[in-house]
Amino acid sequence: AWPLIAQDIPKVIAHRGYWQTYGSAQNSIRSFERAAEIGVYGSEFDVHMTLDSVLILFHDNATHNMKIQEVPYSYLMDIKLPNGECITTLREFLEMARMTSSGMKLIFELKPHATPERNREAARRSVEMIREKKLTYRTEFITFNLDAGKELIRLAPEVPVYYRNGELSPGELKKLGFAGLDYHFDVMRKNPQWFQEAKKLGLGINVWTVNDPLIIKEMAGQGADFIT
Ligand code: MG
Repeated sequence: AWPLIAQDIPKVIAHRGYWQTYGSAQNSIRSFERAAEIGVYGSEFDVHMTLDSVLILFHDNATHNMKIQEVPYSYLMDIKLPNGECITTLREFLEMARMTSSGMKLIFELKPHATPERNREAARRSVEMIREKKLTYRTEFITFNLDAGKELIRLAPEVPVYYRNGELSPGELKKLGFAGLDYHFDVMRKNPQWFQEAKKLGLGINVWTVNDPLIIKEMAGQGADFIT
């Protein structure tokens, strides 16, 4: 139903790294290295800010009966991921990424935090860190939180910021300065006109999390630029 031609083929983004493979784990250093080995366009990772404002890589909001954002980093630093690595700080992660010669993009998901102030602080510290590590040119931000998204756009206008929460149209995102939308494929199925609207406005389209080859083909045929 959706015959593809070469220019339609979307770029692939590894979700939480390439982690369903030997020796890897979600959001680990190894998952990023493995993603680089298979030549994907980018590798997505999740960032939370701890109580003492340390940025760390982790997906869930809580682990070992602790809410990540409500405890200091010292409570988390010895926790092991399933592959034996410790939870990685953003600083350590970016230092590794700099050494990874691949041009693979850093698809940086900034997680929502409890208040608008904390969301903006997390955005500011994230931008400071990618500037310090000279990785702005390889970074693309994605976020569900509008306060964080607006602050990322304000502080790093040269870095693409994609919005994830699904309720804003391409026109609304364009007005706010977003580079594109990163929506669940069901949201795009319910709003199929958004594919064309986004294209007309020059916005990128990323869809998540697509593991079914038939849905990959469907999204590609509709004009998705990226498949996570
Ligand atoms: Mg994520």
